[in-house]
Amino acid sequence: RAKREGRGRVRVFETEMDQELRDRRLLQHDLRQALELNQFLVYFQPQARVDGEVIGFEALLRWNHPTRGFVPPDQFIPLAEENGLIVQIGEWVLREACREAASWPRPLQVAVNLSPVQFQAGDLERSIHQILLETGLTPTRLEVEITEGVLIGDFTRALNLLRRLKALGIRIAMDDFGTGYSSLSYLQSFPFDKIKIDRSFISNLEATPQSAEIVRAVLSLAHALNIPVIAEGVETEAQRAFLAREACEEMQGYLVGRPDLIERYFDLVGITVERRLFA
Ligand code: C2E
Ligand code: MG
Ligand code: MG
Ligand code: MG
Repeated sequence: RAKREGRGRVRVFETEMDQELRDRRLLQHDLRQALELNQFLVYFQPQARVDGEVIGFEALLRWNHPTRGFVPPDQFIPLAEENGLIVQIGEWVLREACREAASWPRPLQVAVNLSPVQFQAGDLERSIHQILLETGLTPTRLEVEITEGVLIGDFTRALNLLRRLKALGIRIAMDDFGTGYSSLSYLQSFPFDKIKIDRSFISNLEATPQSAEIVRAVLSLAHALNIPVIAEGVETEAQRAFLAREACEEMQGYLVGRPDLIERYFDLVGITVERRLFA
């Protein structure tokens, strides 16, 4: 009897797997047309000094699916990486973000996430160079955020590419710091311009004493290496106060503002709504 129940359970599990697989295929199919059908949006989330002064924005991709509504990037970016679409999509995000930032009256910085696949396929340096020329954005206003996934795989190729991007004047930030396997060793291989402490350490600040110690240790290490730090996922004043006390330079999170259409932040970038509407 146990055996039969067991088999039944396996069958249910397989059906779920089939469904999941079918669903992934459907999504992947829709993803192929999403660019053409204008279903992508770029949201912007403010980045601020710990005193609250906004210094820039991170561009975050959104997919407005016709029947599913907003599909979270954590769901569709892996699919776009699987079939290589992320190269085109990533280029589109870069162009949108740079074009937007170039129109701001204040020279705030703009941060864009890059996928490891963009480092392995296509000509990332050429396309970024091209986009900067096309949009007229000063390279020093662009920051690219990479995770350690970029340095796994063809390490030498990725490293050379990072060096050439840096030579263009672009800044390189290490995203999700502390979550990977080798965050520390990557600090040794490349002179990152910024470290983004992962949200998980910040959200556990109050509840877990270890998190506070880890954040302190990252700050002390980064500062010894002369690398400024931005804390991700700052949601409360208590977290901000802790970071200010510990001399963390910058913060990003719901406390400052959620990712949203740039229109919501026009006052922060110095654009009046009137000017934008009648331009
Ligand atoms: P990320 O680059 O680490 O981005 C930060 C994520 O944390 C964003 O999720 C943001 O909405 C969320 N977040 C920010 N502040 C808070 C907060 O205070 N509390 C909480 N709970 N969450 C906060 P999002 O937009 O869903 O993006 C998820 C991930 O998808 C990003 O993580 C990034 O790895 C990836 N992603 C987003 N846009 C792009 C893109 O254009 N290209 C690539 N390659 N990846 C992207
Ligand atoms: Mg990021
Ligand atoms: Mg992050
Ligand atoms: Mg993340």
